[in-house]
Amino acid sequence: MTSIDILAATLMQHGELRRDEPMSRHTTFGVGGPADLFVTIRDAAGLAAAARAATEAGAPVFVLGSGSNILVADRGIRGVVIDNRARAESEADGGLTRTVESGMSFAGFARKMCRAGLDGLTWAVGIPGTLGGAVVYNAGAYGGCLGDVLVRVRLLDAGGRDEWVDAAALGLVYRGSVFTRGQFAGRTVLEVQLRLQPADAATLLARAAAHDAKRLTAQPRGRNAGSMFKNPASSPAWKLIDAVGLRGATRGDAAISDRHCNFFVNYGNATAGEVAWLVAEAQRRVREQFGVELEREVAFVGEW
Ligand SMILES: Cc1cc2nc3c(=O)[nH]c(=O)nc-3n(C[C@H](O)[C@H](O)[C@H](O)COP(=O)(O)OP(=O)(O)OC[C@H]3O[C@@H](n4cnc5c(N)ncnc54)[C@H](O)[C@@H]3O)c2cc1C
Repeated sequence: MTSIDILAATLMQHGELRRDEPMSRHTTFGVGGPADLFVTIRDAAGLAAAARAATEAGAPVFVLGSGSNILVADRGIRGVVIDNRARAESEADGGLTRTVESGMSFAGFARKMCRAGLDGLTWAVGIPGTLGGAVVYNAGAYGGCLGDVLVRVRLLDAGGRDEWVDAAALGLVYRGSVFTRGQFAGRTVLEVQLRLQPADAATLLARAAAHDAKRLTAQPRGRNAGSMFKNPASSPAWKLIDAVGLRGATRGDAAISDRHCNFFVNYGNATAGEVAWLVAEAQRRVREQFGVELEREVAFVGEW
């Protein structure tokens, strides 16, 4: 038995295991090569156990939410990908405080809170991804962000210990946190606690429907990972990309959307290399023409 066989046998105790699993099946881009070991877990205990087992075996670990903010390399991901489907939730304080496992769909949960007459997440009803991913990026839209309602998170550290950490310690900023800045590398979000406010459900649902309508008109169809770049202070990223003549540009099956220039789209069988080429081209032209460095919002992961 090789060391990877031994690790595979351990991981099978915590979830469903696949080998050489194409990541293109698990990303909204529909792009990405194979993960050596891919384990699907269904509760926070399984998430912690799988992460601990991989770390103890010395294997790199990548925690996957819904794969809605990543571009996975064509060569795939070495080590273990943990597919997080932990979705249990509980409530306290008359329902105003919600504790949710990190694999819960953010949009689904936000919609449920609207229906329950709980305010704080109407802006989130169209954001794909899990609550864990939303913490990492401080996901936000239409003037709201997760940090507005986040109380604390339960984290597993690289040493296998878990503890509750207050939101204030997460350094949440526009599309960023201690996770994206590398300060919490190796930590996994197990659970998330949010505090919401009572409100009229019909009013919340109407606000959510207005956000849905805005998204439908603004965002392109086709497989993508949302906004490729953060908006620089000087100008929205899409305007800069448009101004350097890249609206609708293609490379193989990858394209810069002609509907929204900050969306990079896979029209069929795009490779990560093709998408990355367009990303680098947009950065180069914007740097040369405007002296602005476009910072990626989408994370490039795996073996590049
Ligand atoms: C059509 C579309 C529209 C979008 N619109 C918006 C928008 O309006 N606003 C916005 O903010 N974002 C938007 N996004 C981007 C994306 O939905 C968010 O960034 C989302 O929060 C990512 O969550 P995820 O679960 O898919 O993370 P993934 O893409 O699976 O992972 C992203 C990163 O987070 C890490 N991660 C995920 N879960 C955990 C965990 N439990 N513990 C530790 N690390 C973890 C991963 O390891 C990876 O590094 C959009 C994306 C798409 C495709």
